[in-house]
Amino acid sequence: MTKNYDVIVIGAGPAGYVAAIRCAQLGMKTACVDNWLGKQGEPALGGTCLNAGCIPSKALLESSELFERLQKDVAGHGIGVEGLAVDVAAMVGHKDRIVGDLTGGIVALFKSNGVEWIPGRGQLLPDHQVQVTPHKGSQHAISAGHIILATGSSPVRIDAAPLQDDRVVDSEGALNWTEVPARVGIIGAGVIGLELGSIWRRLGASVTMLEAQDVFLAMADQQLAKAALRIFQKQGLDIRLGALVKSTRVIKNGVQLKYSDAGGEHSLTVDRLIVAVGRSPCTQDIATAAADLLLDEGGRIHVDDMCCTNLPGVYAIGDVVRGPMLAHKGSEEGIAVAERIAGQNSDVNYAAIPSVIYTKPEIAWVGQTEESLRQAGVDYCSGVFPFAVSGRARAMQETDGMVKVLSDAASDRVLGVHILGAQASELIGQAVLAMEFEASSEDIARTIFAHPTLSEALHEAALAIDHRSLHIVKSRRR
Ligand code: NAD
Repeated sequence: MTKNYDVIVIGAGPAGYVAAIRCAQLGMKTACVDNWLGKQGEPALGGTCLNAGCIPSKALLESSELFERLQKDVAGHGIGVEGLAVDVAAMVGHKDRIVGDLTGGIVALFKSNGVEWIPGRGQLLPDHQVQVTPHKGSQHAISAGHIILATGSSPVRIDAAPLQDDRVVDSEGALNWTEVPARVGIIGAGVIGLELGSIWRRLGASVTMLEAQDVFLAMADQQLAKAALRIFQKQGLDIRLGALVKSTRVIKNGVQLKYSDAGGEHSLTVDRLIVAVGRSPCTQDIATAAADLLLDEGGRIHVDDMCCTNLPGVYAIGDVVRGPMLAHKGSEEGIAVAERIAGQNSDVNYAAIPSVIYTKPEIAWVGQTEESLRQAGVDYCSGVFPFAVSGRARAMQETDGMVKVLSDAASDRVLGVHILGAQASELIGQAVLAMEFEASSEDIARTIFAHPTLSEALHEAALAIDHRSLHIVKSRRR
């Protein structure tokens, strides 16, 4: 007999596992089907984010930054360090332990909330049924009143650079090298390329990044992106813009790349190559043809504003649908869908989703950029405050970067906040809260920030909108 649930979630990444927990919290009998296998071949919850993305990359970013700080920064504080060495295998082991702890934590959360974990592949069938192909055991169908599809995304592969062993790898492979290659090539200077490039550069590799676009970080505010590019290049990242990779060839002990840019055709030889050219939604075999699930032109599952697919009672969330491929966006969609299934009136504020790039300094933003406001013909004001004049930033030796606040010229409502600097990933939360509460720049300007903190830079940038910055006068009115 087919086992029946209130909700079946397919996929246990940050979108799916959060949706499953919220459904169970709301009293629904919930199952979550997921086919991820960990490094030892064991089923694991958490999807890309926990197993091969956000968490492991942050562990290595943290470790490698610590190494570089000890090497280069602490002398300025009057601290001497001798005999510094890196054991990359131990660093990767530390990362694997964090991954194990966190994925194990989701198992515990599922147990305590009563979510049934079904390891194996799930496929949508007609009539609210899901075919389960378990890692062990026989194929069977289960059914539910509501089905949530959350199968995530996987790295884009390009013909110009097929993956090969540990020589040409994707973002997951580049988190598992156990020694530092002398020369690392990276195709793509996007979010993943920059984070992985930072890790291996800090550990001693010479890193060359080939980016097809002429513009660096086109999705970010360009004033900050340009400042970031200068800082990264000064750190030693060789970022070549307008460089389209045409072909790659694995040779003895290395990889040869051919690429073209405005100056013509070039070649480059590296020891290892990382392909970081984007991610694509995992929709292959997600549903049988008879299920009649509609995909959009980008190959994602078609959904409306409420994450409803074309099939009644079937929802899709996270990387597999429109919008930014960000863990926290998927989680919020999961919560909103669970609550709507339970009859509540929840939604996701897509206008206030923060983005973060975990470089040093970090880049974080929420809302509109100057470029997008100009393109939309919105009249806006801009206030900028550099960390160079922040007392706390100077004490921390973290003076690179700035905070920029953009507000509507007529209403003063905050339309976007952009931060390049230390702890930008944490600071941006204040801006997200402000936008969530529809704050004006004046609201931020009238808020008391503790002294001395990095957050004061947000305060000063808001004051700068009205030419009232106290520690520097640098504002622009359009
Ligand atoms: P991306 O789209 O950010 O960057 C890929 C880059 O590769 C693009 O700039 C593109 O122009 C370039 N490219 C493509 N083909 C090329 C070629 N043949 N030669 C040279 N350059 C080429 O993609 P990503 O960095 O792989 O990240 C994928 C997704 O994962 C993004 O949506 C990102 O937001 C998300 N992500 C987020 C975080 C985070 O929040 N910190 C971390 C990792 C990934």
